Amino acid sequence: MKLIALPAFSDNYLWLWQQDNLAVVVDPGDAAPVVQALAKEGLTLAAILVTHHHADHVGGVSELHQATGAPVYGPAREDVPAPFTPVMHGDNLTLLGQTVRVLDVPGHTAGHVAYFLPDTPQSPVLFCGDTLFSGGCGRIFEGTPAQMLASLDSLAALPTHTRICCAHEYTLANLRFALAVEPDNIDLQSYTAQCQQLRAQGTPTLPAQLGNELHINPFLRARHPSVRLAVAQHAGLSALEQTDDVAVFAALRQWKNDFR
Ligand code: ZN
Ligand code: FE
Repeated sequence: MKLIALPAFSDNYLWLWQQDNLAVVVDPGDAAPVVQALAKEGLTLAAILVTHHHADHVGGVSELHQATGAPVYGPAREDVPAPFTPVMHGDNLTLLGQTVRVLDVPGHTAGHVAYFLPDTPQSPVLFCGDTLFSGGCGRIFEGTPAQMLASLDSLAALPTHTRICCAHEYTLANLRFALAVEPDNIDLQSYTAQCQQLRAQGTPTLPAQLGNELHINPFLRARHPSVRLAVAQHAGLSALEQTDDVAVFAALRQWKNDFR
């Protein structure tokens, strides 16, 4: 099994998961780079997976479906280009001989799903759309902070060696914010240096590794004392002991929204 990150637009990745001469594409916001990659590698498209309804994730779905006949799977509660097979939490698909488990991860959008492959050779794989990014998380457009926190909690509980295929190369900007939150986090400092080197060479920083994210991503660390304290100081929260996790998480997300 091979994972290929196809760059699209300014900072999207369209993920191609390849097995022998077959491929599955996740969130094809544009058909052209996918068509090119399929031709170049001599691959047949076996399926199209969609995590949420935003245009940069579904823009190429109809064209790819019409050109290849590949079936489309997408979140049951979202507006995905028809025809598609609606999926929801707990569904298991079998694609390219692998089990694909559907997880509900609302927050960025109301019906956002992620696709988890628990049994791949090497290590498990997660396609999480715009829910989790390396060093960050998606903006909360349709859901609530409570939903987003619960979604991130469910992803954080996956095996630590899970490879996380995020839909955007936002890593360096996220890490700049993460360092503002936790300037003394040594893992964060060394990961930032590593990612700066990768980007200087034009290499994707992804897939991310869940175990590392648990050490460096402030949105997965919102309950950690150092993150709580930084948020309280920034947002002027008094009585931090009485402030619940969702309120801290919401203030952290707001801080990032305003961060320049
Ligand atoms: Zn989105
Ligand atoms: Fe997006």
